[in-house]
Amino acid sequence: MAPPTVLIIGCGVAGPFLAILLKRKGYQPIVFEKVRELGNAGASLMIMSNGLKVFDLIGVADAIKAESLPLTTLWDAKASGEVLGQSNLPSTFADTYRQPATGIRRTTLNLLLKRKVLEEGIELREGWALVDIQEHEDSVTATFSNGQSVTGLFLVGCDGIKSASRAILQRQRGVEEGLPSYTGLTQTAFLSETPATLEATAAMRNWYGDGVHVIAYPVGPKTTSWALTQRETQEREETWRPFTGDEMDTQREALCKLLDGWDASIAQGVRAAERIIKFGLFDREELRPEEWFSRRCVLVGDAAHPTSPHLGQGANQAMEDCYHLSTMLPDLSPGSQHEDDINKSLEDVLRNNLAESVFRPFAEKRQPRTSTLVKGARALGEMRVAVGSDKGRERDEAVSRSYEGDAAAIVAKFENLLRQPFN
Ligand SMILES: Cc1cc2nc3c(=O)[nH]c(=O)nc-3n(C[C@H](O)[C@H](O)[C@H](O)COP(=O)(O)OP(=O)(O)OC[C@H]3O[C@@H](n4cnc5c(N)ncnc54)[C@H](O)[C@@H]3O)c2cc1C
Repeated sequence: MAPPTVLIIGCGVAGPFLAILLKRKGYQPIVFEKVRELGNAGASLMIMSNGLKVFDLIGVADAIKAESLPLTTLWDAKASGEVLGQSNLPSTFADTYRQPATGIRRTTLNLLLKRKVLEEGIELREGWALVDIQEHEDSVTATFSNGQSVTGLFLVGCDGIKSASRAILQRQRGVEEGLPSYTGLTQTAFLSETPATLEATAAMRNWYGDGVHVIAYPVGPKTTSWALTQRETQEREETWRPFTGDEMDTQREALCKLLDGWDASIAQGVRAAERIIKFGLFDREELRPEEWFSRRCVLVGDAAHPTSPHLGQGANQAMEDCYHLSTMLPDLSPGSQHEDDINKSLEDVLRNNLAESVFRPFAEKRQPRTSTLVKGARALGEMRVAVGSDKGRERDEAVSRSYEGDAAAIVAKFENLLRQPFN
């Protein structure tokens, strides 16, 4: 039996990872990526234990850890640097949840996954943007912007927050989805050499000011990733971009002015910024589980549940999706079952009953958890950039309280997040 072809749309975080899992289960994935040559991509990601233990299944967790520093500490403070709470809980993650939490440059992660896809002998077609999907009785045909079409047994939409696969599936149901919704918050992100004052501890640090929040964590032994979140009710896309070399001095100056009176280590980071990028933060209304899939297609990651970044869970949840979807698909690899049983799985499950026996249970398992996290991330973002002294005081008190009783509230939050998808 020839391995069945699976069309994977998108080579961000979920796409390459899922392709590797499926190849190992006896499928023949082809990954289609709209970008012509994957390269420079955003600032960084915090990969938590739940994501890292899933990455370990394809042997890339060690490479991720080798690039970065495991997180040991959570540290929250007022803008001035006055500490609201501190805990070394993350230093226990590797023991409790198999893997630590660790920050990584997004470009490093994307290129590492791309290399792994190629090493595994998986076909990657860069510069292929999905534009249409036609579903048939027991196959699906994807059409790309270059006019070419490819047919496979099923298609997985891993094409992120502006997912074409999601838009096409919704349109075929008669729903015209608009653009993702602006959350009213912007981020300004940059990487810098780690300021000497922050070097001693690999901490995730949050500073809270009036209408402004700053987060920083290490993404390498000497590099820190920073993101400054602001409330900006107007969508001003013209100001959202990576700043060019000529604009960098003005940007650094503007940020230092905004952060006047804040903990001095932040301004040190700003002055050492390699590159500054500003963007709006978006998410989307949730889909119901039955909207995550059709007869021959299923959505995973941001295509199904785009999340604003405040909980640091979007990519980690995309990894959990891939793990569950791959677990629910029958194993077709030689030796996993008797050949007759493999043929039966292919006929019974994959050709005749894929949507009901795999996609529906997958979506019903994943939708409630991801929906809660999308709402939680939005609420946390709102809370972090509280405006005015009363709201600011309430927020600071809530942050302090979360550290009470050996950080009981934080322990509970991480226990719910990091024990998944297996432990
Ligand atoms: C500022 C910011 C910070 C974040 N920080 C964190 C964090 O710390 N931790 C965390 O877990 N998550 C974080 N996230 C969320 C995380 O980035 C996403 O949840 C994650 O990247 C989703 O993975 P994905 O594979 O679904 O989509 P993506 O990683 O977005 O990949 C989608 C891929 O599909 C491609 N594509 C798009 N359209 C097409 C098409 N038509 N045809 C073919 N290919 C297409 C894209 O080019 C891209 O390569 C953050 C997000 C933002 C915006």
